[in-house]
This record gives sequence, structure tokens and C-alpha cells, in this order.
Amino acid sequence: MAAIDKVLIVGGGVAGMSCAIQMRKRGIEVDLIDIDANWRSYGAGITVTGPTLRALQTIGVLNEVTAAGATWNNMKVLNQAGEYLTDVQLAPLAADLPATGGIMRPVLHRILSAKTVALGARVRLATTLTDLTDAGDQVQASFSDGSTSRYDLVVGADGIFSRLRERIFPQAPKPTFTGQVIYRVVAERPPGFDCTHFFMGADSKVGFNPVSPTHMYMFLLHRAEGDPRIDPARQPEALYAAMQGFGGFVPQVRETVRTTNAHSVNYRLLEVLLMPSPWFEGRVVLIGDAAHATTPHLASGAGMAIEDGLVLVEELAAQATVPEALDRFMQRRFERCRLVIENSVELGRLEMEHGSPMVHANLMASTMQTLRQPI
Ligand SMILES: Cc1cc2nc3c(=O)[nH]c(=O)nc-3n(C[C@H](O)[C@H](O)[C@H](O)COP(=O)(O)OP(=O)(O)OC[C@H]3O[C@@H](n4cnc5c(N)ncnc54)[C@H](O)[C@@H]3O)c2cc1C
Repeated sequence: MAAIDKVLIVGGGVAGMSCAIQMRKRGIEVDLIDIDANWRSYGAGITVTGPTLRALQTIGVLNEVTAAGATWNNMKVLNQAGEYLTDVQLAPLAADLPATGGIMRPVLHRILSAKTVALGARVRLATTLTDLTDAGDQVQASFSDGSTSRYDLVVGADGIFSRLRERIFPQAPKPTFTGQVIYRVVAERPPGFDCTHFFMGADSKVGFNPVSPTHMYMFLLHRAEGDPRIDPARQPEALYAAMQGFGGFVPQVRETVRTTNAHSVNYRLLEVLLMPSPWFEGRVVLIGDAAHATTPHLASGAGMAIEDGLVLVEELAAQATVPEALDRFMQRRFERCRLVIENSVELGRLEMEHGSPMVHANLMASTMQTLRQPI
């Protein structure tokens, strides 16, 4: 095992928490800081694909996630009117794993944060880094609360707009807008709804996934036109307009997005970022969206972030030195994360350019198949 006794994790999202949990299981001292005083996660749903469920099983939270969320094994592809096009069957990765699942983000956050704290990670909120100094085999960190400490490794898990990335890699690429925007909303499941549904419009797409026995989340993706910024107060009305023309059960949900479900409408521009390899410099390494942020097209960004934490800790345990462990980490992570980002961007391009729904479904299915491989 590489000589690692004490680690700083910057950012307590899924990447930082998963890494902290795995490190604590190996007895490594962990300080985890998050800039958010309330350690919040916003109220949308999230899909946890087969590989993500496998990673959550390794972390030890699979049963809690499936009990609080929903699981299923099929994806229905429909046209804009709601007429059936095809089904994609999703097979479980192992006999003791569901094929795929969904959960509310705050519920997943609650499960992971409880485990992080229970295993003894020292969590400090409303705290960020103010300085980092290379001290040979250690890094000296200064914090916004005025304290300082030395660490054997610093893990940057501070998300797509990572300040740590800017500090360590000033030349790193910036997040790029893909041209699409997304709306999300949480609604009650209609009778009989029990799996993913995609409604493929000409240049937009509406999808639904279960997140609990009673609820589902919807997302609507379309090409941005003009200035894509929309004042939050206007977002429910804009979503209502964007949902026009879709059939099936979409009109039923549409009637709720300005009224009963308006509070859960979430809107954002889709941005991607892929740091070139390596994602480390000396004793500082980036994981999760800080190194590779994707769009939701393959519902795998959080899965990749969780896997990063697992693989990093596995390699620290398996290799004799920190540099060897970080090299091995890169070898195991780069191509997999690149595949997710590039194919997600391609799926978005197909949607924006009126691509064939069947080509879209096939690319999605073949990528999901590749992601089933062991990590
Ligand atoms: C619209 C959309 C839908 C998505 N849907 C899915 C999906 O269905 N399934 C899926 O697997 N993935 C999905 N993703 C991707 C997924 O949300 C991200 O990949 C995942 O949340 C990344 O986790 P993270 O921990 O790396 O970063 P984040 O979740 O962004 O967490 C970063 C943490 O760092 C903290 N922080 C930020 N700056 C600082 C600082 N300076 N100092 C200290 N702390 C800091 C933040 O407060 C936060 O807690 C989606 C993404 C988008 C945009």
C-alpha cells in the first residue's frame, strides 16, 4: 500500500463522499470540506444505471438506495406522439443487482453523507481552500476558517466549476456549452408507469424515470435558441411551452408544471469538460466532474464520479507508491470517462440535428453495453 495516512477531500458531492467512504474503510484519516454551509443537493431525480448500482454496492449502500428509490429493467422508446418505436431491455450486471434504478438526489445525498460521517470522516462545511503549498511528500493546505494542515494527498472533487482545477491546472479546458438546455421536474407516476420512457421529438426529447414507488422525474432536452438564460420565475411557463406537441402521458404531466409541480422545475444549460490526462499534479488529484463533466444523455456522470473514488482507493491500496497509484488510476479511468462524454455529446448532436431515433437508441444501447465491463 502507498504510504497514505491523511487525505484532504475538497467537495462533498457523490465523488468526494464515495472517495471518503472507501478511504475510511482502509483506515485513512479523512478531512472533507464543502463550501456549502448546508451540504445541500438540489431536488431533482437521478438515474443510477447498472454500473452505478455496482459501484454503490461496493461502497455498501446498495440496499438503502434501492429501498428508497426505484428499480426496473426496460427502456421504452416512443415517437413524439407517444407511439411505440422500440424497447431496450436492460440486463442486470449480476444476479444480486437490479438492472437500473432511480432516486431523488437529496435522498442519495442523505444516504452517502450519513455513511461518510458514520465511518469517521471529519466533515467541515462552509469551508474552502485558500492556499496549497507543495511540501515534497506532503501538501500544506490553508482553509477559509484560518486553519492549516498537512496531507499526504489532496483530492479535488469540487465539481464542474472546480476552483482546485483552476489552481493546479491553469491551462485546463473550461466547461463548454453543448447547445442543448434541459428542464427537469418531479411528478407523480401515472398508473402503469414502471420503467424509462423516451418520447423522441424532431429536435427535442422528453424522458421519464421512476425515482420512488410513487414518483418519477421528467427531463426535457432541446436545442437552445437565442439567449438560453431564463429567469427562474419564468421557467415553469417556458417548460409548459416546450412540452407542447408531445403525446402519450406527457400532456397530463404538462398540466402540472405551472401549478402543483412548479416548485420542482429545474432548468440549466448542458456543459461538458474533459481534462486531458493526467488529472494529477504531484500530490493533488482531481476526480468526478472536476476532471470530466458530461451531459445526462447516458445518465452516467455520477456513476463515473463514484467509480473514480473506488478506483483511486483501490490503487492506493495496491501500489507501493503514490505516483504509481495515480498513474494506474489514470490508466483505468481516462478512456471510460472519455467514452461517456464523447458519446453523450454525440447523442445530443443527433437530437439537435434531427437524427434517426433508431441510431440514437442503438448508440445508447452499445455504449451502455461497453460500460458494463468491469472497471
Ligand atoms: C442535467 C443533468 C442531469 C444529470 N443526470 C444524471 C443521471 O441521471 N445519472 C448520473 O449518473 N449522472 C447524472 N448527471 C451527472 C452528475 O450530476 C454529476 O456527474 C455528479 O453530480 C458529479 O458529482 P461530483 O461529486 O463530481 O460533483 P458535484 O455533485 O458538483 O459536487 C461538488 C461538491 O463540491 C462542493 N464545492 C464546490 N466548490 C467548492 C469549493 N471551492 N470548495 C469546497 N467545496 C466546493 C459543492 O458544494 C458540492 O458539494 C447529470 C448532470 C446534469 C447536468
